This record gives sequence, C-alpha cells and structure tokens, in this order.
Amino acid sequence: MLDLLLALCLAARPDICTEHMLPAAPCPAGAEAAVRAWVADRPALRAQGWRCGTLPALEVTEVAPGLFVHPGPVEEPSPANGGDQANVGFVIGAGAVAVIDAGGSRNMGEALLTAIRARTDLPVRWLILTHMHPDHVLGAEVFAEAGARLVTHARLPDALRNRAESYAHGWEAQVGPRAWGATRVPAALASAPGALHVSPGAPLALDLGGRVLRLEAMPTAHTDNDLIVTDEATGTLWLSDLAFARHTPVLDGSVLGWLSVLEDLGSRPGARMVPGHGPVSLPWPEGLAPTRDYLSALVAETRAALAAGESMTEATRHLGAGLSGAWELFPLYNPRNATAAYKESWNGSEILFL
Ligand SMILES: [Zn+2]
Repeated sequence: MLDLLLALCLAARPDICTEHMLPAAPCPAGAEAAVRAWVADRPALRAQGWRCGTLPALEVTEVAPGLFVHPGPVEEPSPANGGDQANVGFVIGAGAVAVIDAGGSRNMGEALLTAIRARTDLPVRWLILTHMHPDHVLGAEVFAEAGARLVTHARLPDALRNRAESYAHGWEAQVGPRAWGATRVPAALASAPGALHVSPGAPLALDLGGRVLRLEAMPTAHTDNDLIVTDEATGTLWLSDLAFARHTPVLDGSVLGWLSVLEDLGSRPGARMVPGHGPVSLPWPEGLAPTRDYLSALVAETRAALAAGESMTEATRHLGAGLSGAWELFPLYNPRNATAAYKESWNGSEILFL
C-alpha cells in the first residue's frame, strides 16, 4: 500500500515528493525496491538522485528511567513545525515498548520511531492515544505498521470518525501539503479489530516486561475521550492534555467535568506528571495547579455573568480576559474556552453555578 502511495505521489505531486517524501521520509518496509524501480525508469528523476532517506530522530528527554518525552513547541500547527506541538513519547520495559501519542503527522511518527530505535530494538507493542486531537494522533499509522496495537478510550473511535474529514482538511491546510505528506487520520485504525478500548471505571494494565502501565479512561473533561497513563515503576502520571503548562488550556469537553477529574487525580500519590503541552515533566501534584486555577476562575466568572443575566455575546467579551498570566496563545484559546464554558452552563449545568 505504501509503495503504491509513494508511486502515486511521485506521479501526481513531484514537487512534494522531490523535496519531502524523497529523500526526507524514510522508505516504508517493502517500498524501497518499488521506489528504486520507479525512479530507474525515469532518467530525469534518476539524475536528480531521488531515493528514500531517513528522518532524523525526534528529540526526546528521559524524564524518568526508561520514560522518554518529546517537548512539543508551544505553537499553532504550521508548515514550519509540521504539526509538532504535543508532548509525545514512549516507555521501555524489559520486553516491549509502549508509545504514548504519535504526534501531528506521519513524519512525526516516523521521527519518533527513529528515536525509539536509537534506544532499543524491543518490539513496539502498544500505541496509546491519550485523546482524539490531531497533534496527538496523526502519526499513528507508523506504529500500526510496526506491529503496535492501538489502545484508546472507548469513545475515541466514534470521536475520530466524526471528525476525520474536518481534521484532515483543517490540519493539512495549517501544516501545508509538504508536512502533511501521506498522513491519514487513524479513524479506521482506532476501531479496527485488535484495537483495545478502555472504559471509565475499568482500568487496563499493560505489562511491558517487569513494568506495568495502568491506563484509565476519564469522564468527559478536556475531551470526552481522555485516557491517562500511570507508569507504576517510576510514579509518573502521563496526563497529556488534562494538564497544560505554558500553552493556554483548551476546553473541548466539559469544564466542570475537567475540574472534577483534576480534583480526583490531585489526591493520588505520584512523583511527577507529564503534561500534554509545555515542559516534559512537572512536579506532582503541583503541576496541576495552573490548569485547575484557570478553569476554576473561568467557572467563577461564568457563574457571575449568568447571575447578572448576561447574554453569551456579552459574557464572552470578558470571560477569562484577566486570566492571561503567563499563558501563551491566550488570545487564541481563551475566547473559545469562554464560549464553551458559557454554553455548558446554559445547556443545563447552570444549576451547579448558581
Ligand atoms: Zn488536546
């Protein structure tokens, strides 16, 4: 399939393939011969030295023994960053590797796999997707091809299926066709036979060989399909986008549900946490505070606006506006969060506010 994709790309979009897929992207297994043969038949391309290459490994930091995190830049997706935004990474056990989130493009997944292979030859047995957002899932296909089973919240397959088209169009428009390359939204992968799904109240343990990851599906919070990972060996809680740092929190689920989840999590033991954006590691549970404080204040302001009888238009002009603090990308995300918080209250939760 991939050799066919490469051949089609070479035929249809040589501008992209010349500069990006070849030689920037690695040859998928089995495709190298097909590409070589295709190029061999075209003297002009052969003269340009077309070939498959290898993407450089994604930069990762070992935040705890055997647990590596890539620091995603706090930026919007763009051609310059190619969709590299989220903190993604992997955990190495004695017998297997689990990847946690796959990044914002197929190329990012490839670069993450290269980073893994620089450290271990163990099989990549699981790809855990912490939630549906594109910056966390779009590299998934790379790991499925490498033999990994997808593990997601039980609600993620429907969430991705419903958004696959808009994610693909929107993300490609933002990162550009070169960075998008052969990326595909993993909606079908997430619901394919063999994928594992975790429901709230029914945790799943993955044994990497002498190292257990405990996966828990959360009630609706940042999204309706948030999954957290606890590495019991190191006391590391991988919260992904349930906790933001530097990057303004993004509300795409329930503000009240999110606060409730943070309150429950905060009383747990732990050594450190991995947020979905910002630093690769934060102290536990102190690292939860900025997200919790922002959301709490937003709820308080929404409650006051409702009590004053403000319309959504009136309220969202000012809700959260004074909370910018050290948050980055605040003008982009706070207005969306304010609208979501107001709608949530208006749609039936206001009794909790008033
Ligand atoms: Zn997210």
